[in-house]
Amino acid sequence: MNREVGFFNFSINKILTKDQTILDQARIRLLYYGLWLAMIALSAVLINIFLEHQYVLGISTSILLLSIVILFKYLTFRPRWGIISHILLVLATMVNLCSVFIILQHVDILTAQLIVLIVVFSFYMLGQTCGLFYSLVNLIPVLLFLILEYDNNYIIALKPKIIDESTLIIAVFANFILIIFIQNHFYTAFVKSIQQLKETAEARGELNIEFEKAIEKTEKSSQAKSEFLSTMSHEIRTPLNAVIGMSNLLMMGNPRPDQKENLDILKFSANNLLALVNDVLDFNKIESGKVVFENIKFNLVELMQNICGGQILKAEEKGLEFKCDMDDSLKSKVVFGDPTRLTQIIFNLISNAIKFTHEGNVWVKVTTLEDRHNTVTINFLVKDTGIGIEKENLDIIFEPFTQESITTTRQYGGTGLGLAIVKRLLELQGLQMSVSSHPGKGSEFSFHMEFPVSTEKVAEQVEKQPPAGIDSLGNMRVLIAEDNLVNVMLMKKLFSKWGITPTIAENGERAIEMVQYGNFDIILMDLQMPILNGFDAATEIRKMRDPKKASIPIIALTASALFDIKERVFSSGMNDYVSKPFKPEELREKMQNLVGIPG
Ligand code: ADP
Repeated sequence: MNREVGFFNFSINKILTKDQTILDQARIRLLYYGLWLAMIALSAVLINIFLEHQYVLGISTSILLLSIVILFKYLTFRPRWGIISHILLVLATMVNLCSVFIILQHVDILTAQLIVLIVVFSFYMLGQTCGLFYSLVNLIPVLLFLILEYDNNYIIALKPKIIDESTLIIAVFANFILIIFIQNHFYTAFVKSIQQLKETAEARGELNIEFEKAIEKTEKSSQAKSEFLSTMSHEIRTPLNAVIGMSNLLMMGNPRPDQKENLDILKFSANNLLALVNDVLDFNKIESGKVVFENIKFNLVELMQNICGGQILKAEEKGLEFKCDMDDSLKSKVVFGDPTRLTQIIFNLISNAIKFTHEGNVWVKVTTLEDRHNTVTINFLVKDTGIGIEKENLDIIFEPFTQESITTTRQYGGTGLGLAIVKRLLELQGLQMSVSSHPGKGSEFSFHMEFPVSTEKVAEQVEKQPPAGIDSLGNMRVLIAEDNLVNVMLMKKLFSKWGITPTIAENGERAIEMVQYGNFDIILMDLQMPILNGFDAATEIRKMRDPKKASIPIIALTASALFDIKERVFSSGMNDYVSKPFKPEELREKMQNLVGIPG
């Protein structure tokens, strides 16, 4: 930004502004003081020349002085140092070449001084390219002149013939002062620039420290947020566990049809609430970067059958046709991956497809795209003939807590977290979801995933036992370590359905005592208990002298959603875990597997 200056300005301060760099300011200052110096020197020379009556030289010096005055005026009016420098250099080049070739026809100390001045001035003022250009334009002709004069007994003259002694002294003197002035001036600017760089670096360092502090603060608050969510989830899940458990028990007690209807609603709502808590927790976990993908063996067809099997009833209830097609070649393949996360992704897509479709069909298609020697690329597609999505909303539906419109919330419920979780889970594996949709016609969600293939064949795997009948747990001796009275009551009722009367320990310490003095086939261990928690109790039990007691199977019961719970359960020596609220069949199956009673 150039400040507006009046035409009659002569002050340097008015043409220097804060937005000019240190170097530019140095250039303007140099021109200002340099032109002053040149004007004084030329005036002195001019007076001297007239005193000596050298009129021809006097006219050219006058023209030069006039040009310098005009340039000085221009500088103090508009500080365009680039243009002014070029004009000065052109003038100097003309003076130099004219005096060597036309006026003096020889090279003397003034020529040498002028060339040095031009070299220094052009480099500092206009940079490397212009510096080289002006230096060579002045130097090469003079060198050529010297070469041409070679052998004519030529010596570089100190004193030009047509200039008198006093003029020469003034000129030599002024030139030297100018050379020293330019050097000194730019050296000062150079030092100042370095100083400024140092200050900037220091300021940046301080800023970085501030940034680091801010990042640390944000990390702490995000950690606090995720800890809060996880504690809250525990608090919400514990009573939910009681609600779901109770409704399960009541269902098992042959309720009247009207009671069954109420129980269904109760169970449905509790399950919905649980799904919501799980979604929020899951999203929290993904956002805080704490998701670790498993790499275990599984069969894709079996996995898809399980997912679709769970959804087919929902689709049929709505009168939708549900198709789940898979490539035959996949039946015999065992692949490596994370079946839990893959289930979560596909489950979410199918749930949405069923939820947002009123008539027609939902089609799940799993096809092999590429089958290489040890990897296979699969395309998963979920297609429906539902309400569809407007084109402009195709991006926002993947944002957390976002649904296509408020009507969606009113009509279909939901949190708007499902697709956000799906998207993040895919992105974390370097994958992308494709969507195409036509409002009123339907939607299509698909993604590719590559799996390493195991050399194992499905046939070699052990066939899973079908779920056992109600009373097959026999006389299993069960110890339950649990402090929550509602949960204790719930467990007792559930176990009585299986013909088992469990022993209850109200904290970890009691559980250890009971294991020491009693005989149990299995322990169900709540993790958060007063006096001694489940992890420590399990660790103590594993240290017992009696090898039989030290190896009693222990299943952890956890309502917590802490991220590292699984690892901690296994590292404290427990065999398995069920998360509350658990499904009775799931617990049953795990107990049977660990105690070894056939179903
Ligand atoms: P939620 O299902 O809880 O609303 P999602 O994140 O799973 O949340 O989906 C976000 C929004 O995307 C939904 O509210 C709905 O508007 C839209 N959507 C998702 N899947 C479909 C589908 N198959 N057909 C039509 N709209 C869909």
